Amino acid sequence: MTTKTRFAPSPTGLLHVGNVRTALINYLYARKSGGTFVLRIDDTDLERSKPEYVEALQVDLRWLGLDWDESFKQSERFDEYEKAKNRLIESGRLYPCYETQNELETKRKFQMKRGVPPIYDRAALKLSADDIEKLESEGRKPHYRFKLNHEPIMWNDLVRGETKFHGENLSDPILYREDGTLTYMLCSVVDDGDSVISHVVRGEDHVSNTAIQIQISEALGYHLPEFAHISLLKTREGGMSKRKGGSDIKSLREEGIEPQAILSLLAKMGTSDAIELKSLEELIAELDFSKFGRATAVFDQEDLERLTHKLVSNMDYSEVKSKIEVDEDFWNAVRGNLNKLSDLNEWVEICKKEITPQIDDLEFTKKAIEYLPENLDFSEWMNKVKEATGRKGKDLFMPIRKALTAQEHGPELKVILPLIGKERAIKRLNGEAA
Ligand code: GLU
Repeated sequence: MTTKTRFAPSPTGLLHVGNVRTALINYLYARKSGGTFVLRIDDTDLERSKPEYVEALQVDLRWLGLDWDESFKQSERFDEYEKAKNRLIESGRLYPCYETQNELETKRKFQMKRGVPPIYDRAALKLSADDIEKLESEGRKPHYRFKLNHEPIMWNDLVRGETKFHGENLSDPILYREDGTLTYMLCSVVDDGDSVISHVVRGEDHVSNTAIQIQISEALGYHLPEFAHISLLKTREGGMSKRKGGSDIKSLREEGIEPQAILSLLAKMGTSDAIELKSLEELIAELDFSKFGRATAVFDQEDLERLTHKLVSNMDYSEVKSKIEVDEDFWNAVRGNLNKLSDLNEWVEICKKEITPQIDDLEFTKKAIEYLPENLDFSEWMNKVKEATGRKGKDLFMPIRKALTAQEHGPELKVILPLIGKERAIKRLNGEAA
């Protein structure tokens, strides 16, 4: 069977690192196997799904370099879900229920009080034709539940190994709500079946859905895919969900985090591999489900910052040339001090635009001007100033650095000085804005 994976985001918010990790692993696995990567938009919740989020997630995936081979929206496939619904009704696996939310809640509370798991009691299956007629005449509309077979459900998960459930420990899931809207459960099975997905790779929060979906899939006669459930991510502060405001890709992009840093981190989190900068080709070659552990992986934005700094500070001029407006000497002089590419602007400002110097000791910086050599050789200059003033170490360099750059940190002064130029340097050492 040809490999086909899918990433199935719901366009109800921005993509965050948690769901991009799922996208990435699906992408890497498809590319590694020479298969197909599908982008499926789970937009059956017409109220919460927004076209701008579809657009935004496509922008994010493209920015990350995760190109997809096929794409479709669930909202284009309502007819298919309707057919599947009818087939399940005909085969007796989908049954109408008339309980209201309140009634279900009361049942659940009662079960909890008695210490039994809150599993639906299948009362609707005991309704007679008369009962149903009466309920409908009162204006009640049915919702539909899938009747699970009370038998073992087992699969060999590519991450979790042998995974077992039993139908009797699960509630018959609602596939259709009383207002006629669908729940995710059926649509996902129909789409995975119709598009012949070979591997369903998703977060661990879907494990019990998988148990249910295996039975729905079998009831509809689909070929079962393989499953891989990867552990969830947590931030240092705790949970991570887009609603709680986890780290979304758009914000990371705006903060100057590099896509390669995101991919390198997310592909390796929760695995036995070290986290270091990798190319997409390397990540593809190294993907192996058996390297993924079961423990929750902790996401720390500092890792992204560290990787971004490492990437940017080692970038060759030829790689960044098209994105920046400085020449090669300038780039080589400052790149080691950039945490992100956009920090370059600060050094352009410092070297090429007017700044107000920070003067600790004007007498000293003025005196230093006297020894500034024509060729701007920094060591020669400092040796002379040292001799003339008796200053050394930090006392010697810091007032000069602050006068020249208005900063306490930055690239080596010997590389920065020629970029600032003699005229501007003299003015700044003199305490003038220049
Ligand atoms: N739209 C679902 C989600 O975002 C997809 C889950 C799945 O991969 O089946 O959780």
